[in-house]
Order: sequence, then structure tokens, then C-alpha cells
Amino acid sequence: MLVLTTKIDVRQYLQTPRRLGETIALVPTMGYLHEGHLSLVRMAKQKAACVIVSIFVNPIQFAPNEDLESYPRNIERDLTLLRDLGVDAVFMPAADEMYGAGGGTFVDVPELSNILQGSVRPEHFRGVATVVTKLFNITCPDIAIFGEKDYQQLTLIRRMSADLDMDIEILGHPTVREADGLAMSSRNVRLLPKERQAAVVINQALNQAQAFAEAQEALTASSLLTLVHEILAQEPLASVVSVDLRDAETLAPLSEAVEVTAVILIAVRFGNVLLIDQRVIPSKGLLPTAVL
Ligand code: AMP
Repeated sequence: MLVLTTKIDVRQYLQTPRRLGETIALVPTMGYLHEGHLSLVRMAKQKAACVIVSIFVNPIQFAPNEDLESYPRNIERDLTLLRDLGVDAVFMPAADEMYGAGGGTFVDVPELSNILQGSVRPEHFRGVATVVTKLFNITCPDIAIFGEKDYQQLTLIRRMSADLDMDIEILGHPTVREADGLAMSSRNVRLLPKERQAAVVINQALNQAQAFAEAQEALTASSLLTLVHEILAQEPLASVVSVDLRDAETLAPLSEAVEVTAVILIAVRFGNVLLIDQRVIPSKGLLPTAVL
């Protein structure tokens, strides 16, 4: 496995697989890898002959008050895990390599970056869209893989690549969970033991909401949201930031009668750790699939 730190080295390295006509898959990460990331890498290995993983804690997606400095890091362990999975190359640039010369140019998808999580994290998604565009331009992959856990991010990247005619297949991977159902996240290690235990309430709320939705003849947004709020409220350590029900494809708000495939998006703070999770609620086929 090659460990590359400069853009020029990545471009040079990828010339050979590209010339050989090999499919190239990119898996962007911020490191401190867990089973969720590794599942994305396994999917990449199945889909492509050449797999490149990026590890870059992207400063421009963190606000000054956020956890850029304390974001967990363990590069040696990450590299061992990726080597064991048969990854071909890792790109781990320094911030200077990515943003040193120039800067000030951003990619934005305002319709998707200023809503939901974006309304409480201004500039976060602009930072994500910009760094993903840069990683796409540096690696020119055929396929790029992202987790459904970061649902708004995945939706935004799909939209960005469609709007800007990026010739890259964007694949989503289902959320990988701990045995008790908590969505894996690099930030989970920062939860205190009692917060870690309490955090299972997010998945419990999603499970119950899904079961409720499946049992309804006609689902209403308010009944589903009320149920989720009630379950989260039972956990005193959970400080709810937001619970939303949106169109799963566009993230547009839904009317009271839920007639399309929808997604529940939850953001909850435990102590100073913000956790997010999501669940797609398939439509009951009330609309033709062309609309979904
Ligand atoms: P991050 O390192 O947090 O930026 O995540 C890198 C990629 O891994 C993103 O596409 C995330 O959505 C994805 N990811 C993170 N956690 C999980 C998880 N628990 N299951 C599946 N994918 C995940």
C-alpha cells in the first residue's frame, strides 16, 4: 500500500491503473477509522480494481468553536487497518498541501447546505463540498463511496456531482452500528461511559419510529415526529438538537400526509459530543416510482 502525501504523487500513481482501464474507487475519510469506514472500503474493493482512501481532517468544514484540534487521530492504526484490507493507496495530505496556495474558492450547494445540520453549522457543508470536489479533481475516480449515516452530506454530494456534471458514480453505504445499535462514529470515543450507554436511545427511537410507520395505513409527519421526541425525552442525558422528517431524495420538507419515501434525521448532543443518525422510511407506494 502506498502512502501518498502530495497531490502530484497521487496523480502520478493513478496514471497506471487509469491507463490499464482499471476502475478506481475513492473513499474519503477523516481517519480514526472504525468498522463503518472499513465497510465502505470493503465495498470499494468489491467494485473497483484500484482503491484509494483519503485521510484528511478538513479544516474548512469545522467552525472555530468546533472540534478540529481535538478530532481523534491515530494514523498508524488507520494505515495498518487499510493495509490489511488490501487498499492500494492512501492519500493523507497536510492542510497546507490542500489549501496552501490560493484558497478562497468554494463549492456550495446552498439549497442543501443551509438547511437541517447546515442551519446550525454555517459553512460546514460548503467546506465538505469544496474538499470533496478537490479530492475528486485530484483522484478522478470512477466511483466514490460515502456513508448513509451522514445523510445530508451524501445527498449534497450526489446533487453537487449531478449539477456540476462530475462523471463519478456516487455510492451510499448503509450505516454500520455497534452491537447495541449506536451508529459507529469517530466521535463515540469522546462520550463518557454513561453518555455512551445513553446514546443507544437514538437507534431505539429510530427503530420504534420505523415500526410505527410500517404499522400505519396512512402516516402523518406529526405523529412520527412526536413519537421520536417522546422516546428521546425519556433519556435525561440526551439534549435534542433537531429531529426532522424530509423527502429522502431531495431533503425537501414534507406535508403532513407522508406519501413519499422519507428520512428521519436526528441530531442529539450528549455532553459536548454531537451525534447524528438517520432512518429511511420507504413510501407505501402511494406515488408512482418515477416521483420517488
Ligand atoms: P468521516 O471520517 O466521519 O468523515 O467519515 C468518512 C466516511 O465514512 C463518510 O462517508 C461517512 O458517512 C462514513 N461513515 C462514518 N460512520 C459510518 C458508519 N457508522 N456507517 C457507515 N458509514 C460511515
